[in-house]
Amino acid sequence: MASVTHMTIHELREALLAKKLSVSEAVRAYLERIERLNPHLCCFLTVTADQALKDARDYDNSRKDLTASPLAGVPIAVKDVLCTEGIRTTCGSKILENFIPPYDATVVTRLKSSGAVLLGKTNMDEFAMGSSNENSAFGPVRNPWDPDRVPGGSSGGSAAAVAADLCAAALGTDTGGSIRQPASFCGIVGLKPTYGRVSRYGLVAFASSLDQVGPMTKDVRDAALLLSVIAGHDPKDSTSVDHPAEDYTAALEAPITGLRIGMPKEYFMEGTDPEVAEATSKACRIFRDLGAELVEVSLPHTEYGVAAYYIIAPAEASSNLARYDGVKYGYRFAEARDLMTLYKESRSRGFGAEVKRRIMLGTYCLSAGYYDAYYRKASQVRTLIRRDFTEAFQKCDVLIGPVSPTPAFKIGEKTDNPLQMYLNDIFTLPASLAGLPGLSLPCGYTSAGLPIGLQILGPHLGEATVLKAAYHFEQATKTERQTPPVPETA
Ligand code: GLN
Repeated sequence: MASVTHMTIHELREALLAKKLSVSEAVRAYLERIERLNPHLCCFLTVTADQALKDARDYDNSRKDLTASPLAGVPIAVKDVLCTEGIRTTCGSKILENFIPPYDATVVTRLKSSGAVLLGKTNMDEFAMGSSNENSAFGPVRNPWDPDRVPGGSSGGSAAAVAADLCAAALGTDTGGSIRQPASFCGIVGLKPTYGRVSRYGLVAFASSLDQVGPMTKDVRDAALLLSVIAGHDPKDSTSVDHPAEDYTAALEAPITGLRIGMPKEYFMEGTDPEVAEATSKACRIFRDLGAELVEVSLPHTEYGVAAYYIIAPAEASSNLARYDGVKYGYRFAEARDLMTLYKESRSRGFGAEVKRRIMLGTYCLSAGYYDAYYRKASQVRTLIRRDFTEAFQKCDVLIGPVSPTPAFKIGEKTDNPLQMYLNDIFTLPASLAGLPGLSLPCGYTSAGLPIGLQILGPHLGEATVLKAAYHFEQATKTERQTPPVPETA
C-alpha cells in the first residue's frame, strides 16, 4: 500500500472501503505532515484539525456512512477565497484577516454533502490577484520541487499542498490561469471548468465574468471525480449554467483514436522556454502515437489577451472590491473620526500593493472619457478571442499547448516588474476570456528537475473530452511521473 498521504482520492477510497485504513488514521497522517511541513511551505492559512478529527471519528464509529457518498472520508483542502461557515476566510488579505463567513460557498456545501473531510484553507495571492503567491498578506508559498521558487498563483497554496501530499486534493479558483498555472508549476492536475459550470456562490468575487472554481488533484481521474461533485446548476448563482452535471469519470477510458487535437500556432512560437517548448512538442507526438489526429489551427488574437484581460479583470475588481470599506466587515481603521478617513485608512492599510494597483487601473479604465478607449475596446477584443476559439473548434475537438511560457521562477524574480508577471499568463488568459474549460497536467521535467505542464482546452462544456484526452496522455506517460523532493523535516 502506498503511503497514506501520497494516495489519490480513488486509491484512498479503495483503502478505506477495504478497511485497510480508518478515516482517523488518514486524517492524522495528513495533520502530522501539515504540522511538520507547513511552517516551511506555508500552504495552509488555517488548519481545521479538531473538526477534521471529529468527522473522521464519526466515520470510524459508523455515525456517518462511508459507503454512501463518493468523497466519504477524503481529506480535502479549500482555497481561502471560498466561504466556509464559522471558519476564517481571508482571501490572502489583511483586510479580511479575521473575517468569519456566516455561510458556506455552494462548492463547500457540495464537498460536505459528498462526505469530504475539510482539512483547512489554503494560502493564495491576495484576492486571487497574482501568478506567484507572493501577493499573499501571510507570506509566500514555497514550491515543493524547489523551495526557492514560487508555486505559481493565485491558487499556489492548494497546488503546493496537493504536490507535497498535505491533502488528497484541493479546490482552487481560476480567473485568468490561477488553477492551471500553479498546477503546472507544482506538477499536479488542475482543471478550470467552463464559466458557469461550477457555482460561484460564496466565492469571494475578483472578476465576476471570469471567476471559476475547479479541482486540483494528483491525477486526472481525481479531477473528474471532484468535478462531478462540485459541478451543476445553482439557483443562487445567476451565471450558473442550467445544464445537468455529468459523471465525468464515466467516459475517461473511451478511446481517443481519431480525436482531433488542434495545435494553435500562436502557442508554438518563439519566446517560450526551450525545455517547455520541447516537452509540449513531445506531448503532441505522444498523442499522435495514441491514435489522435494532429491539426494545425490558429488563434490569431492570442497576443491581445494579456492587454484585454488586464483591463477587464481590474475593471471588475475595482467594482467588486468597493465593498471593503471598513464599515460592514473586515479590517477597520479604529482611530478614524469621520467617514472619509475611515474609508481611506481602512482601505489603504488593509489592501496590499497589487490589489491597490488593480483598483487604480480598473477605476481609471472605467472612468468617463476613458471607458470607450479601454473597457469597451477590451470587451471587443474579448469577442474576437472568443470567435478565434469557435473557429478553431470547427477543425478540432480539443486544443493543446503550454500552460506557461516558463517553469516555476524564483521567489522575488518578477516582483519588481508587474508587466513581466502579467506576461507569464499569456497562454491561460485567452480561454478564460472565452469562458472555456482548460486543464493542466504534467508532461515532463526540466533538466533542473522542475515540472512542466501541458494545457488541454475544450469547447464550451467540453470537460468530458478534455478529461478523456488528459487521461490517455497520463496513462501513456505514467512511468515518467516524478514526485517532489520534499524534505521530510522542515
Ligand atoms: N495571474 C492572473 C492575475 O493576476 C490570474 C489570476 C487568477 O486566475 N485568479 O490576475
